Amino acid sequence: MSGRDHTYPSDSTPTAALDQASTDHQDIDRTPPATGDAEDPWTRVTSRMRQDIGEAAWRNWIKPLRVSRLEDGTLTLETNSTLARERVTSQYADRLRVISAAEFGEVKKVEVRVAAQSAPRMSQQRPSQEKSGVKSGAEALGAGLDPRYTFANFVVGKPNELAFAVARRTAESATVAFNPLFLYGGVGLGKTHLMHAIAWHIREQDPSRNVVYLSAEKFMYRFVQALRFRDTMSFKEQFRSVDVLMIDDVQFISGKDSTQEEFFHTFNALVEDGRQVIISADKSPTDLEGMEERLRSRLGWGMVADIHPADYELRLGILQSKAERARIAVPDKVLEFLAHRISSNVRELEGALTRIAAHASLVGREVTIDSAAELLSDLLRASSRQISIDEIQKQVAAHYDVRVAEMFSARRARNIARPRQVAMYLAKTLTSLSYPEIGRRFGGRDHTTVMHAVRSIEGLINTDDSINEDVQLLRSLLSS
Ligand code: ADP
Ligand code: MG
Repeated sequence: MSGRDHTYPSDSTPTAALDQASTDHQDIDRTPPATGDAEDPWTRVTSRMRQDIGEAAWRNWIKPLRVSRLEDGTLTLETNSTLARERVTSQYADRLRVISAAEFGEVKKVEVRVAAQSAPRMSQQRPSQEKSGVKSGAEALGAGLDPRYTFANFVVGKPNELAFAVARRTAESATVAFNPLFLYGGVGLGKTHLMHAIAWHIREQDPSRNVVYLSAEKFMYRFVQALRFRDTMSFKEQFRSVDVLMIDDVQFISGKDSTQEEFFHTFNALVEDGRQVIISADKSPTDLEGMEERLRSRLGWGMVADIHPADYELRLGILQSKAERARIAVPDKVLEFLAHRISSNVRELEGALTRIAAHASLVGREVTIDSAAELLSDLLRASSRQISIDEIQKQVAAHYDVRVAEMFSARRARNIARPRQVAMYLAKTLTSLSYPEIGRRFGGRDHTTVMHAVRSIEGLINTDDSINEDVQLLRSLLSS
């Protein structure tokens, strides 16, 4: 731990330091300049410029620059005169761009403008500037926010309605709602989408709130760097100056003891200070292996919401919504087919739709189930999971509210015989077992009994709506 006790100079942008750090610090002047903190990236940029262009030019043109914002790879700087703007643009913009990119991550362009009000800025006297400074730091981080990941673009269904509701509540409430909000679920189920949506919403509602979103991986990376440069003090301070901290995929720091320790302290400091913390992970707090017990239990103190795998209805809803938004004309039948056959995660559904759209626009022909199946054969193969007869029996029994043992019993009462037939039918259509094998697994019945059951249910599916619905529902439950 560094012995230096850093406080932020008033003209630095604390959270900017949270953005993409440089991997290459060797050639950066580590002695803190008189006016700033060596860990503040903008200060590092300017001290690097100072080395490159010399003291006099630096004082005239670079020193007056202030970071206004960093958005979509454009770094906007403010200075105090037209002359300075012209000079910086013509002579130093390129160099600034390259050096800034090493500090801020992607910087494709540097723009300089004249500040609206260029009175000398005094340390205690610039709350609004401070705000926009802080905001620019958050925006710098926000370069990682996907513009498509908004609440409006999130399709809600049973499996994600709780997570959606608490995410919305958290985004909408001006005070801290649930602390921490812990979202968990498998890969590709929308955790990152919801977190970005919260960030967008807060930024829109109250741009002065400093929202910082980053992956646990990045958090760890920064921490390790701070350790390397013995600058953990300013690392802590930076994180503690945020209003809303979101850390995505926190399972990443499982087994990384010192990062966990630091995370724990940062987390506690923020929560105690009444700041909102939002965490995501692939498992619930209690199931996070390789996490310290006290951290696991602490993570579960607020609101824990899980996202379940998308069921058939949600998958179809997502496909319809994406097709509509992207103005891709895909027949309903094909969307239904995809929703049936691709069950793993939403990202794969999106991938399938994109591929179909590309194909359709190339060949200029309407997509059919057959052409979709052919186009996506690799995807469909990978996601067609082996369904076991045990699962089928359990699911069917639960659906009809009969005991699983009735699947093997000899009883022929209709309220038991019908569910048993449905189970046999599903076993035949969802597994590769033969009639005799299925018969054996249903209490040693003859294969002709199974054949009869399958034929009856096939008939009923076309004539009896309630059976048809039961079968559809069971089929989708089993294949999700
Ligand atoms: P995770 O972070 O849980 O792995 P993501 O948030 O990255 O998953 O989601 C994967 C993809 O699926 C993203 O493109 C996201 O927009 C999309 N997605 C997931 N759930 C939904 C949903 N309910 N509505 C719309 N799109 C979704
Ligand atoms: Mg994610």
